[in-house]
Formats: sequence, structure tokens, C-alpha cells
Amino acid sequence: MDYYEGIGQPWEMFGVDEATWRNPNWQTGHSIRDPKLLSLYVDLEDAQVEMIGRAIKSGKPMKIPPYYAALMGSNPTGVIAGKSVSDDVSGVFVQSVPTPAYYLFKAGVPDPMSEGTRSAGAAYQRYVDRVALMSSPSGICHMYCGHCQRGKDMNGFDAGVQSDTLDEGIEYIRENSNVKEVLVTGGDALALSYGNLRYILNELSGIDHVESIRIASRLPVTHPFAVTEEKLDMIAEYSKNGGAGRDAPNIYVATHANSPEELTADMQDAITRIRKRGFDVRNQTVLLKGVNDDFGKLSKLCTGLHHMGVNPRYIFQCHKVEGLTADIVPINVGQAIVSELRGQEGSSIPVYAVNMTGGGGKVVLTPSGDGGIPDFGYRLSRDMRTWDNNVMKYEELLRVRESDYENGMREMARFYGDESILDYSAGDAGGLKVRETSSRKFRPSMIVVDDADTGKVLYVTNVTAPDVMEADEKLDKMGFYRNGPELGIDGQPYVTNPSEFTPQSILVRAPKDYGGLQ
Ligand code: SF4
Repeated sequence: MDYYEGIGQPWEMFGVDEATWRNPNWQTGHSIRDPKLLSLYVDLEDAQVEMIGRAIKSGKPMKIPPYYAALMGSNPTGVIAGKSVSDDVSGVFVQSVPTPAYYLFKAGVPDPMSEGTRSAGAAYQRYVDRVALMSSPSGICHMYCGHCQRGKDMNGFDAGVQSDTLDEGIEYIRENSNVKEVLVTGGDALALSYGNLRYILNELSGIDHVESIRIASRLPVTHPFAVTEEKLDMIAEYSKNGGAGRDAPNIYVATHANSPEELTADMQDAITRIRKRGFDVRNQTVLLKGVNDDFGKLSKLCTGLHHMGVNPRYIFQCHKVEGLTADIVPINVGQAIVSELRGQEGSSIPVYAVNMTGGGGKVVLTPSGDGGIPDFGYRLSRDMRTWDNNVMKYEELLRVRESDYENGMREMARFYGDESILDYSAGDAGGLKVRETSSRKFRPSMIVVDDADTGKVLYVTNVTAPDVMEADEKLDKMGFYRNGPELGIDGQPYVTNPSEFTPQSILVRAPKDYGGLQ
């Protein structure tokens, strides 16, 4: 694993020594909240700085630990002197920097999970046996993720635990003996102070029917130095797997990595610290436009997580949160990409799922091999069957008016210095007109409706799924050696049957070279 792939020693960029860089308090105290400050560390044009500033003013705050900012590379948008010089945008940039897409395509709802109406104090529920305990507003997070489903809570201030709503939530859990698992979340549970986290764990572990506690945290990914030995030791005091005895709850950690650039040696160290206490670590990825809607990136992310000791449990459809219109990947595209993951290490293949708007719970979207090769065609809406056998209509993309779409695309072409964002080709899908953008930098998927608000769909954008890949193409993208040195043969196809090749080492080594079983 490279330290920071292609970045070198980021502390030099920030003018500090390595020890300071690794100090969690320094990282926290130097969070980047201002685009002008960010432009001191990465290449940003003046116009981009101005547009990012406008997105922040319109309600999308920015907060990035220097560690995470370093992962976006020196020129995250691939623009020099107003012109696009590369096809790609850094996935780390897309996740952490508010772009004009936020205010240009402002469809969506503020609270897609209906947390406001499905909660008792800080306890939110949508299954019989599990409850999420919103331990703090998202303001406590060390980073404000652009795609956060709790965007509505990010007010730009660090707030502490809201003690009365928290106690009300804990009381609900105490009284409801069906609750076996509590997810401590909302913002980032590991970002809670030592004392507040201890208070929550102390209360929950004293409830007999709570068998399992899941700690939700993005810190291993965005701010790994803040995953401290001190806090982990304290958590272990409450955990069966940390040594608290067989009646204590099983505690595990759920983290959230979305792009392969995030998998660094520092993240690995944080994961190792967590696992040393006996806590399993699982990951949930959000499928995001321009971040991971690509087979090669997703495969690298999921196998990389697995090799780190993290179970890549879920890939989630992005919530239809207000302002995230341009981040959502159509389900048919997600299914086409996820279906290609079959063939890689089985434990590195996540479940693709959507959390139904309104709190209906998860619906699994992973395609099976049953029925041959599907066409992965786009559908405007789908019938979804929830765990309790409710069938609900789901339209995964958001609707924007035509004039907002046209204006927004022009502005985004300016932001990325890329005229090809406005270069469309026409197609159709299930009787709908389709527009495909030739640019790879910004190709949002939206439902474009007429300006008169009649609800008439004029066209949908960028909904064509990638073609099903041949096995060789897939294996190339996964980075396997077609004729790797360990095979010692050239120009051979990938081997899935040992009888198909004879390694050079077997030919040249005598039997005595092998140690043999003792
Ligand atoms: S760390 Fe989690 S809760 Fe906080 S902003 Fe990011 S996604 Fe949202």
C-alpha cells in the first residue's frame, strides 16, 4: 500500500513536521472551512473559489481535516488557466468540497429517512430489533461529507450531545425489550468526547436486552489519527469481545469509505488499532457520481477494504437529500457495475441496497445471475418490496426543471473548464428520451421536466448502463497479471485452472528445495 499514492509527504505541503501532522488535535484545529484557504494547498481557479464560496453561503458547509484534503491531490478538478486538462475529478474532492451543483440543482427532500417522525428523542427506528441513537448533531463530525443524509443538521458549529433527547432515546431503548442492537451514530460516534461516549456506552451496556452496539464513524477514513488508543480502551471496557465478560454486548465499528484513494497506510493503522480490541469493522459505501460509479474503482475499493480487515458490507444508493441531485447514480447503472464484482474474492463483494425514502428499510438491489444477462435498462420508477412486504414505488432520480438544468450545466461547464459537459448525444430508454453527456467530469443523472410544472418528463440524462464486460476486460481492470512473473509465462490468458499451466519454478526447482510438511 502506498503511503499517499502520488502525493509524497503531505505535511511538507502544510508546512509542519510529521509528528505535528499526526497529532489529532492539530488536524482538528486546522480543519479547512474556507475555499481561499483550500486554494493555498491545491490548485483552484479564482472562479472556482468564488463558486465554492457561494455553495457554502447557500447552506452547504465545508470542513475538511488537512489529512483528508491531502488525499485529493494537487489539482483535484483537473483545470489549469480555466481549461480542463484531464478527464477526471478527484473523488475525495467531490465528497468534501461543496460545488455549485448544490445550489444549481436543488431538488430533493431535507429528511429522506423521516427521522423527524420515526423517533423517540434521539432514538430512530425502522426495524423491530434495531434502533439508531443519534448521539449528536452532524455538527460534531470532523468532516462534513457532501453526500451526508443528515445534511440538514450541519449548521457549521460543533455541538455537544443534546442530553435530554439522548436520555429520552436511551429510555425508549430500555423500555423496548425487542431492541437487540443499537447503532450509535449521527454525526460521528468516535468524534464524541471521551466522557460523552463513555456515558452512552455505560447506559446501553446496562440494558440487558441490548446484545450488540454498532459504533458508526468515518474517522478511520477522514481523520484516522483521532481514532485514539485511549478511546478504544474505554470502549473495550464495555464489550464482550474487548474482555468485559460474556454478558456484555458485542461491540463493532461501522465505517464509511467511498473511493480507493481513501485507503491509506494511516487508515490501515486505525483499523488495526480498532481490531486489536476485538471489534469487527464493517464498511458501507454510498454509490456516488464521479466517485465510485466505475467498476475499476469500486472493485479496488472493496478488495482493498477486505485486505485491510474491513468487511465491505454494503453499497448504498445515495439518498435523495436536498442538493444531492447530481450525486445520484441510476439503479440500473449501479446494478450493471455491481454485477461485475462477481468473480473477485467473495468476502469483498458487498450487498447493493437502497434505504427506502420514508423509513421503509433496506431493499436489496444486487442482481443475481439467475435469468442470464439482464439488459440493465433504465426505468423511471420501480416497485420495491420492503422487509415487511410493503410494495412501494421508488423513483431514484430527482426532477429538475429544464431551464434549471440548462443553466446548471452551463455553470458546471464553467466550473470544470470543460465545454464537453454541454456536448450531448441523444438516445432513448423505455420510451423516454435520453441525453448522454460526452464529458466524464460531470455527467449527472436527472429527470428533466418542463418549466410549466405540468410534471411532463422531457428527457432523462446519463442513464445508460455500461456494457456487460468480457471476463478478460474485467480482469484487466481488476489489476491482475495476465502473464505475471509468478506464472513465468508470456501472453497467456488468465488462469482459473492450475492444470492449464506449469509454473517455471516447478520446472527448475528440485524436490529437495521444498521444505515439505514437518
Ligand atoms: S461523518 Fe457521517 S454523519 Fe458526519 S457528515 Fe460525514 S457522512 Fe454525515
